[in-house]
Amino acid sequence: MDPDSGFDGDRTHDDGVDYARNRDADDPLAEFRDRFDVPGEIYLDGNSLGPISDAAEASLDRAVEEWRELGIEGWTEADRPWFWYGESLGEDLAPLVGADPDEVVVANSTTVNIHTLVGTFLEALEDRPPGILVNELDFPTDHYAIRAQLRQRGYDPDEHLHLVESRDGRTIDETAVVDALEAHDIGIVFMPSVLYRSGQLLDVERITAAAHDHGALAGFDLAHSVGVVPHDCSSHGVDFAVWCSYKYLNAGPGSIAGLYVDERHHGKTPALAGWWGHEKETQFELRETFTPADSAGGWQIGTVPVLSAAPLAGALEIVHEAGIDAIREKSLALTSYLISLVDENLTDLGCSVATPREPERRGGHVAITHPEAERVSEALRDRGLVVDFRPPNVIRVCPAPLYTGFEDVWEFAEGLREILVDREYEDIQADSTVS
Ligand SMILES: *Cc1c(COP(=O)(O)O)cnc(C)c1O
Repeated sequence: MDPDSGFDGDRTHDDGVDYARNRDADDPLAEFRDRFDVPGEIYLDGNSLGPISDAAEASLDRAVEEWRELGIEGWTEADRPWFWYGESLGEDLAPLVGADPDEVVVANSTTVNIHTLVGTFLEALEDRPPGILVNELDFPTDHYAIRAQLRQRGYDPDEHLHLVESRDGRTIDETAVVDALEAHDIGIVFMPSVLYRSGQLLDVERITAAAHDHGALAGFDLAHSVGVVPHDCSSHGVDFAVWCSYKYLNAGPGSIAGLYVDERHHGKTPALAGWWGHEKETQFELRETFTPADSAGGWQIGTVPVLSAAPLAGALEIVHEAGIDAIREKSLALTSYLISLVDENLTDLGCSVATPREPERRGGHVAITHPEAERVSEALRDRGLVVDFRPPNVIRVCPAPLYTGFEDVWEFAEGLREILVDREYEDIQADSTVS
């Protein structure tokens, strides 16, 4: 399957659904959809909250049973002993970010992990200036956390936080990142892998190399790509990364987050230190002084929240069974197909695609713009086509490969066309509380 040619150029409008069904019949991942319970008719919001799978539910149930049967003994006697839960799940996650097992741990939430890692590396910069480079299309929590970390060290965020601007309001040009590195004294570059609104995939390798060329560290927020785009953090020399597990990893609402710290930084003192990041062998000696674990585990803070981590164990089994390369291939085929349907059937109704068309610059979702995007998103949801709206005019559509097929994409595009042709959205009251 060539993801670049995700659709057949000779296809006519009428044989569209047959084309989609044929693609589904040839899909090696098609069987995975039976392992998920998906709300609505077609669930296209897995980049915000992935659905539950049989395996995630089973691993959560196992933790609950172990709590019932083992009580305190669960810390050492559970099937996956809770004492090592963060490290153990980190080991399972490591191949998805391209890291060694001891470079990854699950802990905290994404926002807390940004606090502790950016804080740690601000302290570690020593003779470098504390300039941090981000971009104006970032997910806001990243900036809130970084500004707070600067303030706590006595640096004015307005002076030390530098924003790469977008030329088109949708994408960030990597060349602009390089230009900003030339123009300012930057100690840390912190960028997303995939922009949450437009779905652009940034070139992690190039940004990391450029940061290093300028003596800066490179950190990434992989929230919108882990589980759908393969990563090579170690071989690209990425210094640190964070992500959450409730999007493409399908580990459940508020499930535990993950972090990566390159081996060369192990042993540094975490900005937010806590006993769960202590060297494991001596943690229960409960010493007065803190010795951080010589691994990514050092950035854990308090006791691992077993119940919010447990579903991740099963969720990861599914991702590994499918294989991240097969997931990426199908994801690109689905998003290419969706883009082709928008181009063919929806542009004359006011829609356009805001996601880059080159597969290597695209994450797992497609942003469709429409002047009435908010009310159109509501109308789609009313039909059981679950998408989300992001201000000002974006409908985000995520055909997640583990539980979405080509016919679903076809059905979505047909539903959207009907809503626009019949102006169904005109009956809907605009409501800007975003869920
Ligand atoms: C989803 C997301 C987050 C979420 O952070 P939490 O601490 O889990 O709420 C952070 N950054 C990005 C880029 C995201 O997409």
